[in-house]
Amino acid sequence: MTDDNTICHLTLESNLDETTQLSCQPAEQHETLVVDFEKVKLINSTGIGIWINFITALIEQSNINKVIFRNARRMVINQINSVKDFLPAIGTVESFYLPLYCERCSKQFNQRLKTSELDVETVKNLDNLALEIDCDQFPDCRSEIEIDTLPGKYLAFLKPT
Ligand SMILES: [Zn+2]
Repeated sequence: MTDDNTICHLTLESNLDETTQLSCQPAEQHETLVVDFEKVKLINSTGIGIWINFITALIEQSNINKVIFRNARRMVINQINSVKDFLPAIGTVESFYLPLYCERCSKQFNQRLKTSELDVETVKNLDNLALEIDCDQFPDCRSEIEIDTLPGKYLAFLKPT
């Protein structure tokens, strides 16, 4: 058995808004909570409040001492960067999406990145990073692809606080 039984998984099934209902009951042996945000594309202010109340209470009422965010899209990254406690103090981002734009195809797309694979040099040279990625509409778009956000601002969450 390779499953780590100290890990509790939570997959958010839809956008975070006033219709969101969250539930997760970690067992006693659960110490790490992995939250998958893949399906969260939009978040409104009510959703932010629901999420923060939920995750704060969950941490208080369980043995969870580590929270990992997985597949965070632009909307989630924006909240992490601007809303205190959206990412709990014991939380880290494992993987996220970098928004890209292809000038040639006028197409927006996202590249999934693992935080662990981003070293200081890569972050400094994000423009080069984008050049290694294709827009998958045409094979030779690389030189036309740009990061569709302000990298320094977008990646603020990577900085240790
Ligand atoms: Zn293209």
